[in-house]
Amino acid sequence: MAETMLEVRGVATFYGAIQALHGVDLRVAKGEIVTLIGANGAGKSTLLMTICGNPRARDGSIALDGEDITGLATHEIVRRGVAQVPEGRRIFPRMSVFENLQMGATLVDPTHFQHDLERVFAMFPRLAERREQRGGTLSGGEQQMLAIGRALMSRPRLLLLDEPSLGLAPLIVRQIFEAIARIAREEGVTIFLVEQNAFHALRLADRGYVLANGRVRLSGTGRELLANAEVRAAYLEGG
Ligand code: ATP
Repeated sequence: MAETMLEVRGVATFYGAIQALHGVDLRVAKGEIVTLIGANGAGKSTLLMTICGNPRARDGSIALDGEDITGLATHEIVRRGVAQVPEGRRIFPRMSVFENLQMGATLVDPTHFQHDLERVFAMFPRLAERREQRGGTLSGGEQQMLAIGRALMSRPRLLLLDEPSLGLAPLIVRQIFEAIARIAREEGVTIFLVEQNAFHALRLADRGYVLANGRVRLSGTGRELLANAEVRAAYLEGG
């Protein structure tokens, strides 16, 4: 089995008195695309944010390359090679595309900047064309590309994506998923993808986990989960 990049063990996360995660265990190997699917409110975003240290896990542990990162500050986790593409993209609307990408590179050795910028522009030529345009004036799909590009500027080894397909037209969703596949297969970045669009996510992923009420309910290869009766009934029918 490939080396483990991310290991989540028994993670419990609370918002005040509300418990959102109840002892979550999962593993992502180096070079894998792993997806986490589940209904609204299942705790998917909470898990992604807990991996990034905000909110902190109250119980359990999170390890990156075998080193415990539970309780580290978010910038320290980013420095270790984890980047997050948050739900809703959260680009800086009044900054240009170029400036947004610069923001992603703040923790990185500046000598890499030009090379990394060209790599992002090669991946998303649309961003190169719109380099001076304000982020807020881009289409939803372009904003998602910018959010992914910004994350790549921090040279992640592990990229965490929270619902990148949300609110996008089917054709654009396909482009975004193709880009994610290229980032994994061509650039060797390990991917942990949170999605409500279970069909696309499971087709793309090597493996998947189904989260329900803050607990892992099922896991398997993308293919196994696509064929699973419970997954089909709960997350794929009509989708
Ligand atoms: P979605 O697809 O809607 O983003 P999700 O699976 O990502 O859903 P979370 O957003 O992680 O789910 O939410 C998990 C649970 O935690 C839900 O019950 C939600 O209401 C609760 N929750 C999330 N954020 C907060 C918060 N800031 N304060 C209190 N409760 C929260």
